[in-house]
Amino acid sequence: PVPVVAIDGPSASGKGTVAARVAAALGYHYLDSGSLYRLVALAAMRAELSLDDEPVLATLAARLPARFSAARAVLDDEDVTDAIRSEACSVGASQVAALPAVRAALLDRQRDYRRAPGLVAEGRDMGSVVFPDATVKIFLTATVEARAQRRYKQLMEKGMGASMESLLKDLHERDARDAARTVAPLKKLPDAVLLDTTEIDVEQAVGFVLDRVRR
Ligand code: C5P
Repeated sequence: PVPVVAIDGPSASGKGTVAARVAAALGYHYLDSGSLYRLVALAAMRAELSLDDEPVLATLAARLPARFSAARAVLDDEDVTDAIRSEACSVGASQVAALPAVRAALLDRQRDYRRAPGLVAEGRDMGSVVFPDATVKIFLTATVEARAQRRYKQLMEKGMGASMESLLKDLHERDARDAARTVAPLKKLPDAVLLDTTEIDVEQAVGFVLDRVRR
């Protein structure tokens, strides 16, 4: 079978950066599964659908006219890479992600990314639901303070305003929602390796994952 490196973890843990670098180092394909939920949320909001209408959102997710092209997210031929990163899409994504039928509708689409020579897949349930037979499973996390600080720095670098207080509150809320939902709650699996990045940098985290893959 085509090897899969599954990297799961909470918001702003740095798993996106680490996963993309690991994929580049190995020459593997890369799946950012969170962006699929963000795309569903964006498409739903644009169509003015209610974000808790499960059957309607599942149909939307199954037919979603979205694709990724050179690290850009495209919806209906429009580049929505920045739009899906908005706060509204973050909140919307975690709402639609709580609906089992929406998750089910996105399963095959995610599994299609498993192509030779390999895949690095990043999200919340890569090792548990989407690729339970993954070659390597990593649970990448950091303290909520470290994650808020990283997000703060990113926003400042982009010239966007932010307050540590609201970032902390937001991360606490999103963690609670992702952990409390009944489908695919965020938690470390017994067969996943814990990678706490609170005290290490991206380079070290990438090295840790590559070392696991090459064992
Ligand atoms: O990782 P990211 O923050 O982009 O994900 C957005 C939202 O999508 C998360 O808050 C989470 O609720 C949901 N998600 C999920 N399962 C995944 C990836 C993301 O439920 N595999």
